Amino acid sequence: ALVGDAAHLIHPLAGQGMNLGLRDVAALADTVAAKESFRDLGDMVLLRRYERARREDIRALMIATDGLQKLFSVPGPLAKIVRNSGMAFVGAQPFIKRWLVSAALG
Ligand SMILES: Cc1cc2nc3c(=O)[nH]c(=O)nc-3n(C[C@H](O)[C@H](O)[C@H](O)COP(=O)(O)OP(=O)(O)OC[C@H]3O[C@@H](n4cnc5c(N)ncnc54)[C@H](O)[C@@H]3O)c2cc1C
Repeated sequence: ALVGDAAHLIHPLAGQGMNLGLRDVAALADTVAAKESFRDLGDMVLLRRYERARREDIRALMIATDGLQKLFSVPGPLAKIVRNSGMAFVGAQPFIKRWLVSAALG
């Protein structure tokens, strides 16, 4: 079973790689704790359960960090205006900010 950066790499701009790895560890521990007594620790059924438990969280963060990285790589003054307006808009929306923080905390 792979956890942390060995299982997935995301761009460090969001500062979420370690958090994501810690959530992997928690999910793996839950999977092992819930294992049936007849299953071996390396049972593929268990590994698939762990994989499924982590898939959406990892995919969502990969899409978000990849999107942000692409957004901030676009050169030119117009792109800068659009980026700054978008960031200012998100910063002024307490509901969106709360949702983003809660998603980042897992
Ligand atoms: C610039 C930058 C800023 C970041 N900022 C944040 C942040 O603010 N918040 C956040 O949550 N995450 C952040 N991250 C991501 C975070 O650092 C990683 O996601 C996290 O360290 C991954 O932990 P890990 O234990 O999976 O891997 P690693 O930290 O890479 O640990 C793997 C360890 O295994 C060792 N190793 C490798 N091969 C072998 C071998 N063959 N035998 C024995 N040992 C081996 C390595 O030396 C290393 O010590 C940042 C990353 C970068 C690059």
